[in-house]
Amino acid sequence: MDKYQVLNKYFGHSAFREGQEEIIDKILLGRDVLGIMPTGGGKSICYQIPALMFDGITVVVSPLISLMKDQVNSLWQSGIKAAYINSSLTLPQYREVFRRAYLGEYKIIYVAPERLMTDEFIAFSRQMTISLVTVDEAHCVSQWGQDFRPGYLKITTYIDSLPNRPVVAAFTATATSEVKEDIIRLLELQNPFTLTTGFDRKNLYFAVLKPKDKYTALKKILSEKKDKSGIVYCLARRTVEEVCENLNRDGFAATRYHAGLSEEERHKNQNDFLYDRSTVMVATNAFGMGIDKSNVSFVIHYNMPSDLESYYQEAGRAGRDGSPAECILLYSGRDVRVNQYLIENSEENEDLTPQMRKKVKENELEKLKQMTYYCTVNKCLREYMLNYFDEEAPSFCGNCSNCQRGFEAVDATEIAQRIISCINTLDDRNLHFGKAMIVDILRGVENDRIRRFHIDGLSIHGILHKVSAQRLRAVVEHLLEAGYLKTEGEYPVLYTCDRAKNIATGRERITVRLPVENTVYRSGGEERDIDSELFSELKALRMRLAARMHVPAYVIFTDASLKDMCRKCPVNREELLRVSGVGAVKADRYGKEFCRLIAAHINRKG
Ligand code: ADP
Ligand code: MG
Repeated sequence: MDKYQVLNKYFGHSAFREGQEEIIDKILLGRDVLGIMPTGGGKSICYQIPALMFDGITVVVSPLISLMKDQVNSLWQSGIKAAYINSSLTLPQYREVFRRAYLGEYKIIYVAPERLMTDEFIAFSRQMTISLVTVDEAHCVSQWGQDFRPGYLKITTYIDSLPNRPVVAAFTATATSEVKEDIIRLLELQNPFTLTTGFDRKNLYFAVLKPKDKYTALKKILSEKKDKSGIVYCLARRTVEEVCENLNRDGFAATRYHAGLSEEERHKNQNDFLYDRSTVMVATNAFGMGIDKSNVSFVIHYNMPSDLESYYQEAGRAGRDGSPAECILLYSGRDVRVNQYLIENSEENEDLTPQMRKKVKENELEKLKQMTYYCTVNKCLREYMLNYFDEEAPSFCGNCSNCQRGFEAVDATEIAQRIISCINTLDDRNLHFGKAMIVDILRGVENDRIRRFHIDGLSIHGILHKVSAQRLRAVVEHLLEAGYLKTEGEYPVLYTCDRAKNIATGRERITVRLPVENTVYRSGGEERDIDSELFSELKALRMRLAARMHVPAYVIFTDASLKDMCRKCPVNREELLRVSGVGAVKADRYGKEFCRLIAAHINRKG
């Protein structure tokens, strides 16, 4: 079988996504690779397909027990024999896995890093042929990442103990250069083929809201999502508990997760979420790495995180199966101060010199600033974020709250006249200020500086109190750009240019593109082409099958597959195979029941 046939037969996909094919080709040629793709980008099949095509066994090092279990479950559902070895196995289970592994039953074996160097696993690996070692979530090898796992440093020792060096393939969603270099160096990748795909996730809708009351806003958003599954991230454990409790009181099926809970409770809550018994997971950032639940249809940040890397990673857990999903951030100025406090009071890393510590903090504060800008910019949020990750992007995506809010062309002549007259009035008194101060004066802010210069007594003070600061800033920016105003000096203060006279006298009028004001949350586009009744019936059937098989529902078919069934209405095996995500094995296993349901639905509807 070639790679296309494997893709189709086992995974039911008709085409590769960006980057997948190149990575697979290189691995098949025997070259080490480092694949950097965003969360949900499709890293798994980059090593699973070569694993199926190589003669020997593929060992996958993975940091999380739940992640391994999930992946192995999914592989079995697709007709691929795989197993995992980690501390969750009982002794008899452990022995059984090895017994079958020695018989060569498994093509893919997931291993926790701590288990690699055990005598049994080394003996096994030396006796069998290991063709490929995959390191998933490879950033765990780097101390620069948040998720450092000392066990990852042992991976090279394991590889060195094998009679023949296998191909080594590493994958992560973290693209910073420090982490990338660490991965290559610490995993001793040999002349690796490195590929970073675009970070844009087109199916994600991004929004920033600044609600007066966050809980009320959250409730409103959730009530529009009915039985959809999603995550609410909070900064503090206390907030997680509070929000979760309130949601339960208000009738939402919410559960919670943070590092302060007992292992047992975390395990149970996580499973409730994975198996759709609880639709909303309220959690700190302790919840998430390797959460492969594909039908997470929204990620709401109750607090702003400390940097855009974390934000994109967390938000990216929405819409993994490619269905439209929403990432909403509830921003407040307080979030900035809390993050600042956390950075300034974070635990000192003993291994760093005082200078290095200072540098680290400065870096963190700078990242916080960029995160804060994300919450306050007027431009396209997607563009802002992709630029932050060094990627070019168009300035209108149409699928974020800023693009949707839209812009309107406003005749800003009067506003501009007052701005100019304000600057001139101050100039007469030999007073010169920057943008922020001018905006404050026009809006009638009262503060020490304004009183000190006796500006509060001038007629220009508060003359534009009805116009939002955001709008005023936008008009000032426009006047600067168009050459009516200029800035001078070390602390850029504003001056008028000759041209400004034309506006002051009304000879020239100006039009400025301004964001429409006072619009509230609008959801990011439901799919209108889906028969929602059929979709619910398919979901119910999937739920019954999942319960019978003891696996999470999305392991049987993703939401994206069910939606594609709604579009294509397959009634026989052949038609079913055309549905995205339906491979031969799943078609044989579940096809009949799904086709029967669809046929019945069509009959009823005529
Ligand atoms: P990552 O590990 O990069 O976060 P996964 O490997 O878990 O992402 O894949 C995310 C989702 O994308 C899965 O639901 C998977 O079925 C889907 N997927 C992966 N490759 C393809 C493809 N070529 N076509 C369609 N869907 C795909
Ligand atoms: Mg993954």
